[in-house]
Amino acid sequence: MLFSKVNNAHLALAAVSKELDEHPEWKKYLINIGGTFNWRNISGTNRLSAHSFGITIDINTSYSNYWQWDCDCKNEDAKLTFKNRIPMGIVHIFEKHGFIWGGRWLHYDTMHFEFRPEFYAK
Ligand SMILES: [Zn+2]
Repeated sequence: MLFSKVNNAHLALAAVSKELDEHPEWKKYLINIGGTFNWRNISGTNRLSAHSFGITIDINTSYSNYWQWDCDCKNEDAKLTFKNRIPMGIVHIFEKHGFIWGGRWLHYDTMHFEFRPEFYAK
């Protein structure tokens, strides 16, 4: 898969992957990766997705919740109820290595992890 080497993003992802390998009980969430590099806009907007920069990974979409799927709409003003099936242990490992989690957004996207070099301690 394609992942950026800018700011050592690829090393951060490798560190995440190594730690996740120690948790076979989470494997079902981590197979069939939803995607990494993909030049595209955020669904329903004219804004470029972070996937366009190769710093973002979507884990298995089968266990993910995305606000647009849950409300069956693209209305950013819709009233949303947060849902999540991703174990927080997975989230904590990504966060430890400098990724932010889409599950923390008002417009939640629980499959989505995005590398932020300012949070990455080398
Ligand atoms: Zn994503």
